[in-house]
Amino acid sequence: MTVCSIRVLPDSVLRQKAKKVTSIDSSVQRLIDDMIETMRAVSGVGLAAPQVGVSLRVAVIEIPGEEVIILLNPEIVKVGGKYLVEEACLSVPGYQGELERSVWVKVKAQDRQGKSIRLKGEGLLAQALQHEIDHLNGIVYIDHVQNPDKLWEVLPEARREEL
Ligand SMILES: [Zn+2]
Repeated sequence: MTVCSIRVLPDSVLRQKAKKVTSIDSSVQRLIDDMIETMRAVSGVGLAAPQVGVSLRVAVIEIPGEEVIILLNPEIVKVGGKYLVEEACLSVPGYQGELERSVWVKVKAQDRQGKSIRLKGEGLLAQALQHEIDHLNGIVYIDHVQNPDKLWEVLPEARREEL
């Protein structure tokens, strides 16, 4: 497994709509393993393939203390509630912002074997699912920040979970 370098804005790969995974071959398996390794190396809570320079619809999420979630071709199928959250992204280093997210989401996706899965997330998991699926659509959390006052610089030691 390899720790990949994280692409940061204004890298154009972060602005592309990522391609659907159609064949789950060994290169996709390697990508998944590298993404997990990279996410752990930088203590991230989630990572989307465009963040390591691969424009494919693959995301991994690991909420502290819980099992890693691997998502191929994830789609949000239902959302509920709205709240304001603070968020930070590995691809926007040194900043965090406040934005509105859904309280819970239901997602359908495929696992690494290609089997259809559905999951419901609330709280940090819901936030991570929305954040990573946004990445697959070329959207970065700062796009949801309503005004510049709601985006601020943070010192490395004051960082919150990054996605
Ligand atoms: Zn991010």
